[in-house]
Amino acid sequence: MNMKIRIAGITEESIVDGPGLRIVVFTQGCPHKCQGCHNPDTHDVNGGYTADIDGLYNHIQKNAVRNKLLRGVTFSGGEPFLQAGPLACLAKRLRSQGLDIVTYSGFTFEQLAAMAVERKSVGQLLKQTDILVDGLYRETERDLGLAFRGSRNQRLIDVPATFAAGQVVLWEDAAQKQWA
Ligand code: SF4
Repeated sequence: MNMKIRIAGITEESIVDGPGLRIVVFTQGCPHKCQGCHNPDTHDVNGGYTADIDGLYNHIQKNAVRNKLLRGVTFSGGEPFLQAGPLACLAKRLRSQGLDIVTYSGFTFEQLAAMAVERKSVGQLLKQTDILVDGLYRETERDLGLAFRGSRNQRLIDVPATFAAGQVVLWEDAAQKQWA
């Protein structure tokens, strides 16, 4: 089934939304209303435009073939978990092509894990995510020196390692161990 998704736009090349060179899909719709949000145009759930998962997959796949430096795809927002079903489906297809997935969320990992009990699609998107950047943007904890996130409360979580360990494993820790 070719699922639909509402998006705000796509950035073809980014090095600030996760490790390596990435395509970023900005999803439309966010309930969090963080003070100082850099993407207020993505808040309205009726804003943006409708795209289909087959079209997005083909577009990204074409880019990946053309640009061998592309490491992965980032789902940003907006709040990606509002549309977890179609994104999980897209992520699964992209990962099977060797691309990794970074997903941003205003919800924490623990909140998402609790939501997944009721909403299967939330768990499916978590399972298809390599790195989760979690938590609200808090202007009082803003720090320009942080990699890939805006405020100190936000975490980079290694999701597969977290599921394997049964507790949150930060991506920096896992990455450092890998390269040690
Ligand atoms: S979660 Fe992200 S998009 Fe949503 S209000 Fe907060 S900073 Fe903005």
